[in-house]
Amino acid sequence: MKIKLDRTVCDGFGLCAVHAPETFSLDEWGYVSLAGAGDVAPEHEQGVRRALLDCPVHAITELKPVEAQQGDPAR
Ligand code: SF4
Repeated sequence: MKIKLDRTVCDGFGLCAVHAPETFSLDEWGYVSLAGAGDVAPEHEQGVRRALLDCPVHAITELKPVEAQQGDPAR
């Protein structure tokens, strides 16, 4: 799976880094950074899906296969 993160809406709750620490890291203020380009290895998908569902501000979205191929136009 491939995901994108909208850091502009992240409120620093930190739940994503709890569920998927290999994919999300928090800075010293608790705001999140995405490891790599958003490609999630199959063994990490479960934690990332949990993070996606639990993020209170919906900052994390899964890219559909077509979007993933085209890349994120916001970048
Ligand atoms: S769970 Fe959402 S709001 Fe919280 S740090 Fe992660 S992306 Fe930001």
